[in-house]
Amino acid sequence: MKVLKFGGTSVANAQNIKLVLEIVKQKAEKDKLVVVVSALSKVTDLLHLAAAKAAENDEGFRDIVAEIEKKHLDTLKELIPVSEQSSLLSHVKRIINHLETLLDGCFLLGELSPRTADTILSFGELLSSYIIAQAYQQISKDAVYKDSRELIKTNNDFSKAVVNFEISDVLIQEYFAENQSRITILPGFIAQTLDGITSTLGRGGSDYTAAIIAGAMNAEQLEIWTDVNGMFTANPKIVKQAQPIANISYQEAMELSHFGAKVLYPPTIQPVLRKNIPILIKNTFEPKADGTLITNQAPSNGAAVRGISHIDHISLLTLEGPGMIGVSGSSKRLFEVLSHEKINVIFITQASSEHSICIGILNSDAENAEEAINKAFEVEILQNKIDPCIVEKDLCIIALVGENMKNHQGLSGRMFSTLGKNNVNIRAIAQGASERNISAVINERDVKKALNTLHENFFEENTKQLNLFVMGVGNVGEKFIEQIHSQKKFLKEVLKINVRVIALSNSRKMIFDEDGISLKDWQSTLDKGEAAIPTEFIARAKELNLRNSIFVDITANASVSEMYEKFLKESIAVVTCNKIACSSAYDNYKKLKSLSRQYNAPFLFETNVGAGLPIIDTVKNLIASGDKVHKIQAVLSGSLNFIFNNFDENNSFHDVVKEAGVQGFTEPDPKIDLSGIDVARKILILIRESGYQMEIEDIENLSFLPGECMKTANNEDFFKSLITHASHFENLLKEANEKESRLKFVAQFENGKASVGLQFIPKDHPFYNLEGKDNIVLFYTDRYVDQPLLIKGAGAGAAVTASGIFADVIRIGNI
Ligand code: ADP
Ligand code: ASP
Ligand code: MG
Repeated sequence: MKVLKFGGTSVANAQNIKLVLEIVKQKAEKDKLVVVVSALSKVTDLLHLAAAKAAENDEGFRDIVAEIEKKHLDTLKELIPVSEQSSLLSHVKRIINHLETLLDGCFLLGELSPRTADTILSFGELLSSYIIAQAYQQISKDAVYKDSRELIKTNNDFSKAVVNFEISDVLIQEYFAENQSRITILPGFIAQTLDGITSTLGRGGSDYTAAIIAGAMNAEQLEIWTDVNGMFTANPKIVKQAQPIANISYQEAMELSHFGAKVLYPPTIQPVLRKNIPILIKNTFEPKADGTLITNQAPSNGAAVRGISHIDHISLLTLEGPGMIGVSGSSKRLFEVLSHEKINVIFITQASSEHSICIGILNSDAENAEEAINKAFEVEILQNKIDPCIVEKDLCIIALVGENMKNHQGLSGRMFSTLGKNNVNIRAIAQGASERNISAVINERDVKKALNTLHENFFEENTKQLNLFVMGVGNVGEKFIEQIHSQKKFLKEVLKINVRVIALSNSRKMIFDEDGISLKDWQSTLDKGEAAIPTEFIARAKELNLRNSIFVDITANASVSEMYEKFLKESIAVVTCNKIACSSAYDNYKKLKSLSRQYNAPFLFETNVGAGLPIIDTVKNLIASGDKVHKIQAVLSGSLNFIFNNFDENNSFHDVVKEAGVQGFTEPDPKIDLSGIDVARKILILIRESGYQMEIEDIENLSFLPGECMKTANNEDFFKSLITHASHFENLLKEANEKESRLKFVAQFENGKASVGLQFIPKDHPFYNLEGKDNIVLFYTDRYVDQPLLIKGAGAGAAVTASGIFADVIRIGNI
């Protein structure tokens, strides 16, 4: 005999029930079957709601009853031929009338006892099992219906009644000894007290019903048919990368289900474990998938951790004070109080100092527990020996589970450092002596991030997922997205980094996609996006709370640079090509750096100087290895270099500046480049990265632009002014030619002083032959004394800047 249980989604509607009937029909060809069914999906919740409303004198319960009635009548009509329907429909209506009468009673009395609640909740399974049994009889007459309440007897602990196995086992065995039908269909979840009152086995309890019958009958196998391909390495609704576990032991499955893997109701394992009956978890919607086999000794797949699970809606209660130390019996009293209040303790930790004891319970039990504990320790609290109980709500327990964990060192270290790196605060930790389970209590808002990052670390060959929030999709931004798109496969396969763009924004629109925006047609998606609101952008990034989140600023906007602080405080890394933050007030620069350290969120800005050239990274490495920078000489403006390299007798200054803009070498406002401000910002950043404190005002700017050009209010006027002052620029060129030198805009730092300005560079200088839009930097340091460390290459342009941003993102991926 095999016992099959079909859950709520498997029997959600007529269409799904047809799949169930097909599975049953096929299986019945080989085995005698007991089929246990849940209520139609959501019906138990609806019954719960209706009962609560009725007890609160809210007429709204009638609408819910109508909804329940419609759901069942519709299902029945679709499953049974019209000619056979009438008596069955009347029967369902009678059941619904009975339900409504009970709810009317609650409504009139304004009361709902646990006993009445159980009777009301039982209607879900009573209705579903009746309809399914009737539907199966259309296929085969070899199926009978049996009310589980006649077989499973419990105590009077309504809502989670305790089964009397002695009596129930005998009743079940006697019944099946007489009933020789090929198929028996029964409602799950419901049972009966010894004096004949309906009880229930706890939410999700249909699994248990099936296990009780399987245990009593020594069934060959218990099959739990549900809506997923088995027990997964983590809840598949939260962790997209989770995989079904092929084999798992009873103990591991029990730990996972106790710690929230809802796919199996925790008590289910006990009745079958005693008889060594395998449990097979299967998917009604994909019956060919292997599913998960739960047995006594599951073959190992070599991995230490078998699965990760979590329970949310947890509260931590801490009882502490000097009065606890060395006083035997404090914990006994604490647990007695909780047991008396029927409060289930899910998690316990006690430091060896015995100064405090910490327990995890459901949020819904917290107030009750707090009151009871404070009352029980009233005397000690009055004497200041123990503090009143501290309650922290809205937490969550996450647990790593695996039989094999005891044979591996360093798992808890790996677990906690993974969480720590993602700024998941751990409130409490517990590890059972069996070492089959390591659990931690964290904030509920971090659960998705924690589960995914742990899953990534323990199950995904160390693939790291980076979640990008990109602001600014101009020339550089567009190239950046293009590069990510084309490198995605390589990054995943070779570097084991999975880069996803979660948000994109320009100044007008923004879009979000938690699963990653498709980079093929992002432009059209962005055009259709919602209005861009920076505060909302931050709020969404925070709310999504994804692991390894990175804010990528590809704008040149001051207000965007003011957002960094908020991101870093959310442990969201910042990668930027925007120089404004790092060249703003020194205190602000320092603050961002220290926030980055404090919140474990990288703050990288390699492209602030020399676009994609590895200049800042090099300075960082010099300083970290103990070198000291004394002097910097550099041509740091790709655009000015391009301009002065192309400015000659045949190309006017105005035309060359225009061309530099067209090719994307200048800032959107070319005055920022030509005034020397941009170069001043860059040298300032290099100076700061070299460990010196300096402000932008401390840098002497020997501007070559006539005052009138500087004063123009917009790009159009600026370009006009370049024509007006053409002779000024021609004179500069003439002078350079006369001196057999070239014009270069040079930044320098020496003896604590810095300046930027146009210089006539003679032939023998390393800057003389600087081509096109190249940059060059010479660092004179303790170690590079005579021959400076030289970095040279293209220092402007969308593609190289994008690749520099890309490199910063990958640096974060490699941390
Ligand atoms: P049923 O109605 O069939 O009893 P449940 O909703 O009770 O189904 O259980 C199945 C659900 O359990 C899945 O849809 C999934 O969302 C959830 N679940 C949570 N953790 C796990 C896990 N580790 N493996 C599989 N499913 C899980
Ligand atoms: N219908 C009950 C519930 O929703 C029992 C079950 O589905 O297992 O909790
Ligand atoms: Mg279930």
